Amino acid sequence: MHVLPPSPLMILQEIVECNRNSGLDGTETSSDTLLHQEASQDMFQVQLNCEIENKVTCDKVLGEFKKVTRYITSTFIFNTPIKVNVSYYDFCTVYPANLCGDLSGAAYPSQFYALQDDDGLTRLYPQSLVKQFQFPNAPKYNEFDINAEFNSKSNFWFEQDSININPDQEDIYWTICHELIHGLGFYNSWMGFQTKSIALIPTPALINPDGSVPKSNLLNTNSSFVEFMMDKYTILLSNGTQISAFTRQLNTFFNDHKSSVFSDEFIKSPQFKFAQDLLVLATTPNSLGLLPRNSKNFLSDSFILETSIPTFEQGSSLIHVDFKTYINTNDFLMTYRSVDGNNAERMILNGGNYSGGLIGPRLKLIMETFGYATTENPNPYKPLPFKPPEVASKKNEKNDHNANTGYIYPIISSIKTTHRWDVRSKLISGF
Ligand SMILES: [Zn+2]
Repeated sequence: MHVLPPSPLMILQEIVECNRNSGLDGTETSSDTLLHQEASQDMFQVQLNCEIENKVTCDKVLGEFKKVTRYITSTFIFNTPIKVNVSYYDFCTVYPANLCGDLSGAAYPSQFYALQDDDGLTRLYPQSLVKQFQFPNAPKYNEFDINAEFNSKSNFWFEQDSININPDQEDIYWTICHELIHGLGFYNSWMGFQTKSIALIPTPALINPDGSVPKSNLLNTNSSFVEFMMDKYTILLSNGTQISAFTRQLNTFFNDHKSSVFSDEFIKSPQFKFAQDLLVLATTPNSLGLLPRNSKNFLSDSFILETSIPTFEQGSSLIHVDFKTYINTNDFLMTYRSVDGNNAERMILNGGNYSGGLIGPRLKLIMETFGYATTENPNPYKPLPFKPPEVASKKNEKNDHNANTGYIYPIISSIKTTHRWDVRSKLISGF
């Protein structure tokens, strides 16, 4: 896996700054607002492990992070600081040679916590949001909420250089913002079943007795399926059904069988049909979307997810919004491809010059739906703390003894050699 060079340059972000640089609304700021902004910047802290020799570039990367964190803290209201651990290094030292050149960044929540949703299901929430809920008995948190990495070999454009972006360059500000939104929980983990993806399943995950789910507990082959926060709002655009209905059905497999889901028994079970249906949905254009809370019309209100890639691509399909629908709109940020030669400013202009910046109105609404507070929605939805499920832990114990590990290795190796958690590929030369 990822091996750090001997002396990574460690930089801790300076977090006290008063100047707002986003130019989002152009309004004058009173001294009260400035105080608020200064405090809000404490709410997003970045540690950059810059593993390249060029100190000037490291400073530029840090500068772009400052801009993004200033922007995100001007969009959402955080009550508890969020800490990001960022590595900037040559991806070809870690990723396969045929892939590393196309990757620019990746980010994921460092740890999840199982919380009880108001529909009775337990789902995995990212640490950054769980902290904001301020539960009386807070679990023990990781030092960092988000892990992120950026490819030093990407041809990034930095606004600070004050030169025009080239057709083959990617605006790092845009990429950082995209990745941090994943880190804040725009994240799921649907995975192809077997190397050739003959079906689609949620990730089996082991929930620790305190409700924590470190990354190493994901893809626990002896566990049942667990959804992520984002899955609660994922619906079929044909009829509005929650995708959770499929997860519920799939999990009935564990009522009838003691084996791992990666066993022949699963393929032969009646539940497998649901996993096959999910694969069809995930590879059929405009079939799944995110429905914001209090929506009146699921067709017009849904944020359409990326299901137009003909074969399911973990890290691209479903974890992004539909490229074709949104790349030319004010909600282009969470499409799976970036567009070289277009910086964030030009993308915003192209999308209609939205005053809120990179985080478009649909994305903002869905982040509010997840539970992030904003000025317009200061009291968002809050799930209940985790209750240790006695039945579920017994089931896990049983499964531990009966696991059939026959399919573990093909699946894991497939994930490692193709896509890890989030992958952004490039669309060269604009549109
Ligand atoms: Zn992404």
